[in-house]
Amino acid sequence: MPEETGGGPHSLLAVFAHPDDESLACGGLLAWCAALGVRVSLLSVTHGEHGQGADSRTPAGPDVRETELRDAAGVLGIAEVTILDHADGMLPWVEAGQLEADIRAVIRRTAPDVVITFGEDGLYWHPDHIAVHERTTAAVAALHEDAPALYYVTMPAGAMRAVVNHAADVTAGRTPHAAPPRSILGVADADAFGALAAAPTLVVETGAFAARRLRALTCHHSQFRDCALALVEEHDAPRLLGTEHYRRAVVGAQGDAFIERFAVPRTTVGGHPAQP
Ligand SMILES: [Zn+2]
Repeated sequence: MPEETGGGPHSLLAVFAHPDDESLACGGLLAWCAALGVRVSLLSVTHGEHGQGADSRTPAGPDVRETELRDAAGVLGIAEVTILDHADGMLPWVEAGQLEADIRAVIRRTAPDVVITFGEDGLYWHPDHIAVHERTTAAVAALHEDAPALYYVTMPAGAMRAVVNHAADVTAGRTPHAAPPRSILGVADADAFGALAAAPTLVVETGAFAARRLRALTCHHSQFRDCALALVEEHDAPRLLGTEHYRRAVVGAQGDAFIERFAVPRTTVGGHPAQP
């Protein structure tokens, strides 16, 4: 554990599109940073109002999803949550300069050392996620010498397939003739996560903080219909949800960034080199 990272001077801002992205993408690292005294802030540029609701016909609505996000942020130790009113599902069509300016304003206000957002693949090619990747990259680049370090979060290929397979095993053991849950937070194709992600430059094994990530994910109740994550127990979390992948952006500050101290040594990720 990077104890030298503790203390007040460091701050981190996570920029995502919808409630639940924060927990799914990087909940372990956010919780770990917060536990070490890093000031962690979160910007969600929509309320995720079109996410699935209690049944297949009714979307969750903005209030439910905001409440769930604030609960999850509490679990992760996030100090400040900002939720903007851009329309869920419409981010590629929001005027690019406006979205970039909105993100830059939050970066300026929270003054982070490190910003984390989606990579080019948007975790699973979600158009809103890709728009946030592009606008956050532009917002950081425009800050020039005042820019924080920028990291893109991706998912290890196969990670969500392992969760779905685990859910199938649990279901088979409990109720052999029941259909196991096959989706991940409303995403039907578990193989889409991380499928074509660029190689990480920073691999973090979050260990015990993976259970915190799972607990934060569970706060997003409205997204748990037919969700394989519902059958993950806390003791399974380090194995199924413990590994997080990040890649340093070419824009933003390039000097020493505190989250590099969370890196797994190159030779010890599951017995394989951490980096290619
Ligand atoms: Zn999302």
